[in-house]
Amino acid sequence: MSSEIHLSPRPGDWEDWRWQFRNRFKGLHGLKKLIPIPRNQEGDYKDLLELYHFAATPYYVSLIDFSDPDDPIRQQTVPDLRELFHRKGGSVEDPFLEQHFSPVPGLIHRFEDRVLLMSTTLCGVYCRHCNRKRNWSKKGVPNLSMGHVREAALRYIESHLEVREVILSGGDPLYLRDSILEEVLRRLRSIPHVEVIRIGTRAPVTLPMRIDDDLCSMLRRYRPIWVNTQFNHPREITPQSKLAVDRLVTSGIPVCNQAVLLKGINDDIKILKELFQRLQAICVKPYYLFHCDPVMGTDHFRTTLSKGMAIMERLWGKIGGLCIPHYVVDLPNAGGKAQLMPTYLLSMDGGEAIFRTIDGDIVKYPFRD
Ligand code: SF4
Repeated sequence: MSSEIHLSPRPGDWEDWRWQFRNRFKGLHGLKKLIPIPRNQEGDYKDLLELYHFAATPYYVSLIDFSDPDDPIRQQTVPDLRELFHRKGGSVEDPFLEQHFSPVPGLIHRFEDRVLLMSTTLCGVYCRHCNRKRNWSKKGVPNLSMGHVREAALRYIESHLEVREVILSGGDPLYLRDSILEEVLRRLRSIPHVEVIRIGTRAPVTLPMRIDDDLCSMLRRYRPIWVNTQFNHPREITPQSKLAVDRLVTSGIPVCNQAVLLKGINDDIKILKELFQRLQAICVKPYYLFHCDPVMGTDHFRTTLSKGMAIMERLWGKIGGLCIPHYVVDLPNAGGKAQLMPTYLLSMDGGEAIFRTIDGDIVKYPFRD
């Protein structure tokens, strides 16, 4: 299917991020344009979309091969009734107690030196595996305008001298208008103790035309800024996303990737190897591979820790270190991140360490304390 043909954009529309945003496929009406919904399931889909919204940019939808029910981009985009009905024990709405660590609405202060500022509730695509999908439903959204939320969060940061890093998140902060985003960045830059700003965004993946010259020249003025994005499959690396990354990097903004390990999408050595190598080739550092969090409505995306470990074991030593992310589990109840790495040190005693190599050989290594 070509959504470009379906929507009949005029010349220039497709490359215009505002057109893409205005023409997102949304709600049940938009979903029906993409997949057939049997009449006897309409009620279930209505309930699902009430709880977990649906929206997707025409650009991202155009990457889907609709003849393949297991298409990796389709699975990240198109709502699935398993989000409502397939709920294993242990999944909760907010496993990291973010509400508990939120001193003012829209701000999370879980680690001493950094805060996360949820600057908007908007996203171009509502990723079905999102670990903040609780916020899409009305009850998750603070009963305040986002302008008030941002103001209260900025005041909190001003008065907390220990905060050296601010992570702009959401929603997706690059869906803010340039003028609003610039005002947030200007305020943050005027706070002496804020050294670094990070922007968490999927725009390079789901709406790469958002990364235009105006945005980049504005961001450039507020460096150091790091962009963390989320490519999960090599098919998301397109000429447009490559151009978006290139614009950021040549504006002096490093880009890192936080992939999520997703069952049936990328829990496969060949797919991840290609993803990480192609990311390195477009100057995106594979930074984290997150184990999919135990968030309600995402159970069908979760694979096993042993599968994740086996993939890392096979990647290590086979591809360059710059291509290898940290495989991490975000521990529930604010336990922080735990890194999962294959172990090569077998023992260490009496001035000798015993290692196994990536090929399984045993090597003795003398050392002195
Ligand atoms: S863009 Fe980020 S915040 Fe928005 S739905 Fe996707 S993962 Fe969640």
